[in-house]
Amino acid sequence: MTTPATDSSSDENLILDSIAKWIARDVEPYAMRMEHDDEYPQTMVEQMKELGLFGATIAPEWGGLGLSASTYAKVVTMISESWMSLTGIFNSHLMLAKAIEKFGTLEQKRRYLPRLTSGELRGGTALTEPDAGTDLQGIRTKAEHKGDHYVVNGTKTWITNGHHGQIFALLVKTNTAADPPRKGMSMLIAEKAPGFTVSRKLEKLGYHGIDSAELIFEDYKVPAENLIGGEEGKGFYHAVGGLELGRINVAARGVGIANRALKEAIKYSQQRKTFGKFIHEHQAIQLKLAEMATKCEAARLLVESAAKAYDAGQRCDMEAGMAKFFASETAVENSLEAMRIHGGYGYSKEFVVERLYRDAPLMTIGEGTNEMQRIIIARQLIERNPI
Ligand SMILES: Cc1cc2nc3c(=O)[nH]c(=O)nc-3n(C[C@H](O)[C@H](O)[C@H](O)COP(=O)(O)OP(=O)(O)OC[C@H]3O[C@@H](n4cnc5c(N)ncnc54)[C@H](O)[C@@H]3O)c2cc1C
Repeated sequence: MTTPATDSSSDENLILDSIAKWIARDVEPYAMRMEHDDEYPQTMVEQMKELGLFGATIAPEWGGLGLSASTYAKVVTMISESWMSLTGIFNSHLMLAKAIEKFGTLEQKRRYLPRLTSGELRGGTALTEPDAGTDLQGIRTKAEHKGDHYVVNGTKTWITNGHHGQIFALLVKTNTAADPPRKGMSMLIAEKAPGFTVSRKLEKLGYHGIDSAELIFEDYKVPAENLIGGEEGKGFYHAVGGLELGRINVAARGVGIANRALKEAIKYSQQRKTFGKFIHEHQAIQLKLAEMATKCEAARLLVESAAKAYDAGQRCDMEAGMAKFFASETAVENSLEAMRIHGGYGYSKEFVVERLYRDAPLMTIGEGTNEMQRIIIARQLIERNPI
């Protein structure tokens, strides 16, 4: 369980205000062109360092902002309304930093957290493999303990920040005979070095600007002191231990995309006329707008409620799962409805709705697919309501 955390409303307003100004000045005017060119937003990364986003959820004693999940979710929603990809750059990084903060040894925290929270060192989490995503216990990357280091061999795929990042929380098997397999899994802090190469940047439908890469490990040596927490066999728990906050974050991204789709639809429906009327005067469009707005509000409230439970240190796997499931499906539905409301122009690269439509489906996949979220919710319903 997490340490209870709250931000005063003045602290929250301060951070949300500076993020809003940054978006209006430095993100929105450039996002569309950069996304179409799949250009890495290096200048925005420098600005995100200044804003403290690379330490957003990490405690101030390590140089972070120490934001509660509730405030963090609002930050993520605001940025996703403008350009969702940016949130992946700091969120994947924060999952690595959080794993060290939550499970690392004091020495690991001292060595890495200050440089991670400042953004001097940036990275992400490397769990998924070509043959194992949902079924993490099926990973094949192996780490053999030899003297004062581990020798790692294997392949990771879809790793966010894989190309531009320097350091990753790397899930490996330290005991391939363990039964169940999760007991033989460990997490290493892996810095780029000989034997650790990026084989290719993956081309995607959306989520442009940010790099998703395949990583290859060939006789890559990691110092034994980089085993998170200093104890083998805990890696699976470290990986799933970050999922609740991860799901709240993906849900918040979904709310951002869904909100933007609604805003674009409301605007366009007051600009476009057919049959002598603005299209918002047609009942068919009114029904769409009303449904989109209602779903946005419901998704926002689910995220808020999951984040509050997380901040209070309560169990929130079902709540985070519900928020993630509903908000991401809302993002998909709203982006399609916004596209329909725009008619042919919605299919044009000159309007932002085509990007929302390409970005939204990722929210149904990341941090546990929506099929898995429904399974988690159903299991919890039974566990919490025994007869
Ligand atoms: C753009 C992008 C960025 C990513 N970033 C990262 C990252 O930074 N780090 C990282 O480690 N990974 C990352 N991933 C990987 C992502 O986490 C996985 O794609 C995701 O976990 C799903 O795994 P999979 O693709 O192997 O699908 P599979 O696990 O093969 O699933 C295929 C289908 O089967 C369904 N399914 C699987 N098991 C069950 C079951 N038991 N019951 C019902 N249905 C089931 C799934 O829901 C899905 O519909 C990223 C992926 C993308 C696309």
